[in-house]
Amino acid sequence: MEVAIMGAGLSGLACAITLEKNGITPAIFESRGQAGDRFVNGEVLLSIFTHPISDCIASLAEDYGIYLQPTAPIQRMRLFSENEQATIEGRFGFSNVRGREEHAFEAQLERQTKTDIHYHSKYSLDQLQREYTHVVVATGDGDDAKEMRNFHTDFTVSLKGATVTGEFDRYTVMAWLDHTLAPYGYCFLIPFSEKEANITIAIPDLPVNKNIQMDELWERFHPRVQAHLNQELPITDQFDITRYPIGICESPRIGNTFFVGNCFGTMMPFLGFGQHPAMLSGIYAAYDLCGFGKYEELTKPLRKKYENSLVLRQSIEQLSNKGFDRMIKALHGPWGGKLFQPRKLDPLRTASYLLRPYVKLKGARP
Ligand SMILES: Cc1cc2nc3c(=O)[nH]c(=O)nc-3n(C[C@H](O)[C@H](O)[C@H](O)COP(=O)(O)OP(=O)(O)OC[C@H]3O[C@@H](n4cnc5c(N)ncnc54)[C@H](O)[C@@H]3O)c2cc1C
Repeated sequence: MEVAIMGAGLSGLACAITLEKNGITPAIFESRGQAGDRFVNGEVLLSIFTHPISDCIASLAEDYGIYLQPTAPIQRMRLFSENEQATIEGRFGFSNVRGREEHAFEAQLERQTKTDIHYHSKYSLDQLQREYTHVVVATGDGDDAKEMRNFHTDFTVSLKGATVTGEFDRYTVMAWLDHTLAPYGYCFLIPFSEKEANITIAIPDLPVNKNIQMDELWERFHPRVQAHLNQELPITDQFDITRYPIGICESPRIGNTFFVGNCFGTMMPFLGFGQHPAMLSGIYAAYDLCGFGKYEELTKPLRKKYENSLVLRQSIEQLSNKGFDRMIKALHGPWGGKLFQPRKLDPLRTASYLLRPYVKLKGARP
């Protein structure tokens, strides 16, 4: 068996590490010059979305032998709507760094991979399919799956983000649900040290947003963050992403080609969380290749999570700023934190089950 992995990101490297542990040496092809050779940004792993796993960093280590050091455990969330704010305390998960940084998850995974990575790869999927018995497509987008008529895009998202310097509490993340800052989307601040943080606006490319100028939103958002933190936050780096597709494959595997990570559909529609499912999908593809299970079966819970997450996305789009105010006000208080704690019922599944009829009733998206 000759396995090629196309893409040395989270899913591709998790696949490679799992294959290596089980005696298969894959060939890894990465189009960039190093793993994570892109802008630096902060991301989070929230336990509420990894149900039934409450600590996904511990689970990756104990269940799969993949060792990651996050930036910090998240112990406080500050949530803002137009007129309300809530601070909730608890154990919410972890923050971490991505991109061109020594402690980025990609860099940590790359250090655990024994196989040398072929950087600056120009190989197409066709070429790899001709030269290898099995190909794992882990390129971080659905393009190759789309080419094979196997990827359905539900919507696209545009993002504008920056690294800012200042004084931050590493254990606190902040989020804004406010249509004047991010219409039908959200904004967030994730620190990646005591001195640096990532601030980002993410909005879906809905018809109602077609005339929105990201720069104008930024002119409102950046001063708002500075006001909430009561400090100047100079920008040291910036990134823009337009029309980032969120969708899912019809078949996670076609012949001997496996689609993993975002190529499969692990980027969750609700708030865009995809790191943990991306790594799981890479591990599952490796399990199939090692004869431990069937990729189609193993990925079924990830597909369900995607579907539930899509319902939540569609329902949050129905909320006005008044609705956000009510939600944030309700979260402020002792039970706000409890909502995010590990529990028997999957909160994502329960919420999507409850909201499904409402979304159907409301019909078309804005
Ligand atoms: C701005 C932003 C913020 C996010 N925030 C969060 C968050 O807070 N929490 C969360 O859980 N998720 C978040 N996500 C989503 C998460 O980053 C992704 O779901 C996850 O990285 C997907 O992993 P992957 O392996 O599919 O792709 P990636 O990790 O992106 O890896 C893809 C790799 O393939 C390489 N590649 C591309 N094309 C080719 C080719 N033709 N040949 C070879 N190599 C190729 C790329 O260079 C890259 O190294 C965020 C995404 C973005 C964009």
